[in-house]
Amino acid sequence: MILTADYADCGESLVRVVSNPAAASLNFPKEALMVRLFIAIACIALLVTLGVAGQGPGIPAGTTHNGAAFRFNKVAEGVYHAIGTGALTVVGNSSVIVNDDDVIIVDDHVSPAAAWVLVDEIKALTNKPVRTVINTHFHYDHAHGNQIFGKDVQIIGHEFTREMLTVGKSTEMPLYKNYVTGLPTQIANLRQRLNAETDAAAKTRLQTQLQTAESNAASQAELKPTPPNVTLRTNMTLHRGSREIQIRFLGRAHTAGDVVVYLPKEKIVMTGDMLTSTLSNMSDAFVNDWVTTLDELKKLDFTTVMPGHGEAFTDKAKIDYFQAYLRDVWTEVTRLKQQGVSAEEAAKRADLTRHRERFASITAPGVPLIAVTRIFELLDKK
Ligand SMILES: [Zn+2]
Repeated sequence: MILTADYADCGESLVRVVSNPAAASLNFPKEALMVRLFIAIACIALLVTLGVAGQGPGIPAGTTHNGAAFRFNKVAEGVYHAIGTGALTVVGNSSVIVNDDDVIIVDDHVSPAAAWVLVDEIKALTNKPVRTVINTHFHYDHAHGNQIFGKDVQIIGHEFTREMLTVGKSTEMPLYKNYVTGLPTQIANLRQRLNAETDAAAKTRLQTQLQTAESNAASQAELKPTPPNVTLRTNMTLHRGSREIQIRFLGRAHTAGDVVVYLPKEKIVMTGDMLTSTLSNMSDAFVNDWVTTLDELKKLDFTTVMPGHGEAFTDKAKIDYFQAYLRDVWTEVTRLKQQGVSAEEAAKRADLTRHRERFASITAPGVPLIAVTRIFELLDKK
């Protein structure tokens, strides 16, 4: 459901009718006053609903979409993995934990609009309010929805996550810059293809893609990176009724401040990008520490992983596969650097094809330049 209330109208009506009924009655005929009164009551109901839900006042731009934006996969009683359907640009996954009295969201997607629609669609699962958001790390596809939450919502993250979002590092990442600067071209291309298309079904598909891209661009324009208002350095445990929610920093990995969210009774761990269903990007990674941090993760007693990208999984061997990849990419790139090979050349030559059976994205020799650049940077600091 998309609410389309006009807040300007709300504001005017509330000011005229609620704050100053005498003045309002002087300026309006009786019928107009009744209409204004009705709008004001509707607006109060809307604002109360949004406040209870955890969203701050105001609907962000770019929430327009057709059909459900999220698929909520139930992993345990009250625990859902929210995965984008493609109706709206969301990029990362979030997890939703419904407790006795409240809701916790783990990661809040790529834009204010995506987070707002997530909270809206959660209302189909429960009428309990969102009281807590946890950022697994500072990256734009996991923390750029923070701004939509009201002041009564605790946003929890590692101290490093707060530091990065405070100084605007999430928008300085080359991945984000490329992503945002590419949007106008993407929109222009879609518009061009839409105008040239004659097949009705293809036209409808393009129309949806265009709307999705335009909504995303509208929301990115309103982005104000918002840091966590509650931070931790090592561990924190939340007790919500019968549920225990542990937030743990296990060491540097995908960033210097990744936390995992661990539900010991349900034997579930939410891993952000420290462990996904495929390979994670390495732009801010501590590639050599990452393997050790994953060893720490293995010490937790869990059966299900809810990753920041891809579907939930139970096959713990995936951790071994990813550790083997990390060890090899580190060794391979180190070897090439020691031979005096440039980062660009090393990115072409580093051969990780022995991992292709485990990771479908590996089809030929070569690794992303962003990973090689980062490993070179880490080696230079050693
Ligand atoms: Zn990330």
